[in-house]
Amino acid sequence: MSAIELESIHKVYQTGRQSVHALRGVTLRVEEGQVYGIIGQSGAGKSTLLRCINLLERPTEGTVTVAGKRLTDLPARALQRERARIGMIFQHFHLLQSATVADNVAFPLRLAGVARRQARARVGELLELVGLGGYEHKYPTQLSGGQKQRVAIARALANHPSVLLCDEATSALDPNTTRAILDLLLDIQRRLGLTIVMVTHEMAVVQRVCDRVAVMDHGQVVEEGPLTEVFVSP
Ligand code: ADP
Ligand code: ADP
Repeated sequence: MSAIELESIHKVYQTGRQSVHALRGVTLRVEEGQVYGIIGQSGAGKSTLLRCINLLERPTEGTVTVAGKRLTDLPARALQRERARIGMIFQHFHLLQSATVADNVAFPLRLAGVARRQARARVGELLELVGLGGYEHKYPTQLSGGQKQRVAIARALANHPSVLLCDEATSALDPNTTRAILDLLLDIQRRLGLTIVMVTHEMAVVQRVCDRVAVMDHGQVVEEGPLTEVFVSP
């Protein structure tokens, strides 16, 4: 069973009288435990495709299957449950500025109905995992970019996801911090057996961590394969 299967995905954005055909029949398979890169120019549809995996965007056509569950067929409540097991991190972290680190990380736990005491223990564990033990009572404004992304990673892992989606997760970070975050992601991936899908426009990121890549252009996958095959030297 593949971790993720996307079958003939189309996405048309309708804004007023304009429509944008952002995805034009994308079929992809990501195996369990892979670090999978999605690359391509700005506007190619990378972010849209990533958001279709957890149905943050609903495909106009096609099916999405994660961990054997066909998400595009699920009723709302069941979908919500499955979605909790797909973590996501973003370029600009998307932390709640007025909440402490602990409350940010606990947010998805509260949503999932985890009791306060258990949530507190889990938050401690998650912060240790990302190297921020003892940061519970800090606020996002007191943290560096790399530390904010670590908090976001902890939050994304709160509900024991099988899949982590990364949308330009290192694009706002300097090169050293980028390396540290990528190494952390790889370490977590190995320890937890996660499947990671990352959208990036940074070649260095792909080359450092990805097993396999898809190259997108104008809403389609134009090349796909193991890193070593897609990037053969000319
Ligand atoms: P990438 O991540 O490769 O830069 P995107 O998936 O963000 O590409 O965008 C693909 C296309 O879809 C672009 O033309 C973009 O302008 C359009 N698009 C993305 N999100 C929306 C939206 N919410 N509404 C309308 N058009 C969108
Ligand atoms: P980022 O990827 O850094 O969050 P973007 O500018 O790519 O920032 O996108 C911000 C939001 O705007 C996203 O939710 C995206 O779906 C949406 N968006 C992108 N392109 C368009 C567009 N052409 N029309 C409407 N919304 C868009």
